[in-house]
Amino acid sequence: MSKKCIYCGCEIDESSVIDFCEKCGKGVWGERMFNTILKNMEEARERGDLYGENFQGKIE
Ligand SMILES: [Zn+2]
Repeated sequence: MSKKCIYCGCEIDESSVIDFCEKCGKGVWGERMFNTILKNMEEARERGDLYGENFQGKIE
């Protein structure tokens, strides 16, 4: 299942943590802010994965 950029509709990587392409993201926020958002989103996802594993461990 592929994702599409919410701004221009181009296809983006399905594993991407954001719903828009790099070009649009940088156009909206600027390169520095875009990179910061991307980093925060990836870190949040990593934390979410860790919490998921811990939660499963508690059930067992
Ligand atoms: Zn786009």
